[in-house]
Amino acid sequence: VMKTVDVSLGTRSYPIYIGNGLLQHRPELFRKHIPGKKVLVVTNENIAKIYLDKTVQALTGGDSQLSVESVVLPDGEDFKTLDDVARVWDKALQSRMDRGTTFLALGGGVVGDMCGFAAACYQRGVHFIQVPTTVMAQVDSSVGGKTGVNHPLGKNMIGAFYQPRAVLCDTDTLTTLPDRELASGISEIVKYGLIRDAPLFAWLEENMEKLMARDTVATAYAIERSCINKAEVVAADERETNDLRATLNLGHTFGHAIETGTGYGTLLHGEAVGWIDRSILDRTRTLLQRARLPVTVPPEMSVDLFKSLMAVDKKVSAGKLRLILLKGPLGSCVVTGDFDTAKLDETLQHF
Ligand code: NAD
Ligand code: ZN
Repeated sequence: VMKTVDVSLGTRSYPIYIGNGLLQHRPELFRKHIPGKKVLVVTNENIAKIYLDKTVQALTGGDSQLSVESVVLPDGEDFKTLDDVARVWDKALQSRMDRGTTFLALGGGVVGDMCGFAAACYQRGVHFIQVPTTVMAQVDSSVGGKTGVNHPLGKNMIGAFYQPRAVLCDTDTLTTLPDRELASGISEIVKYGLIRDAPLFAWLEENMEKLMARDTVATAYAIERSCINKAEVVAADERETNDLRATLNLGHTFGHAIETGTGYGTLLHGEAVGWIDRSILDRTRTLLQRARLPVTVPPEMSVDLFKSLMAVDKKVSAGKLRLILLKGPLGSCVVTGDFDTAKLDETLQHF
């Protein structure tokens, strides 16, 4: 299987390659997007053990002229910090990497967001390629150019928009992904169904067990459909200047509050993101349960804790909280600051 989805941004565009065996058999797919001779692979200690050698092999094999260095970060959302990004810059400077260097992110959303941010800032911007290795990263975080790190006062609060030159989604890398991470990524696919793709939602209702069993064809299809949705949204609203791109944050105002409130690492990103309108609540709950995702909120999330954490959400504008709410038929939603605050309190109370 090999599919390509293009992300068009005005005069620029970049490809997302989706399929199995790409790292092993199609190294030219990313090599042709590397303009210079130097590559810095950014990964973490967990992924490095499984995929760093394979990736370096793909970059340097055959008649390749590339010289490759790597930096291995500690694993986890706890290390998605400015201090940890600085290790990437330290390595690049120690290796005397110039502006022609390409930074290549090998890993999940954490590595991708950090490497992209490092690429955006290093000498004011070097080439950047994404090789996402989680479902979360293949369907969502590697596409669209949002990069950054967490701050103790809020998730993803420090960052930049910085687009990759190419994204290589090798579904073979998903074979080693823990079940819980698989489910976390599937939640973002459900999200596309809810906000803009009712047929995808229906397909998920038919095929959830195939996805959970990591069927190659079903997985590639779900990633392709997700990337098409993401690419359309990003093409229409690259920098979240209107509400369209904000719809991708369905559930995230609550989810990010839960992630911060319970301490990063207690719940996975995809496990914390799941707030839904009543009318389709049952179908969605059933689908999430089939993906073995949690459908209740941790007990320590009091209404007050929710509200204080939601107040730092990036969608807060002029001091007013805005929410993405499912409205109308399945596959449509609104971004609004115009909701009943008493209803919100009641919802948070009964979560
Ligand atoms: P992650 O990057 O922490 O990866 C999850 C875990 O799986 C880690 O322990 C990682 O080491 C491990 N792992 C990764 N690939 C593996 C593989 N192939 N085999 C075995 N283990 C593997 O988490 P994630 O869910 O990929 O990403 C979550 C992050 O993405 C959050 O920080 C979130 O804010 C960010 N995100 C960003 C965007 C965006 O638009 N930039 C969108 C959604 C999420
Ligand atoms: Zn998300």
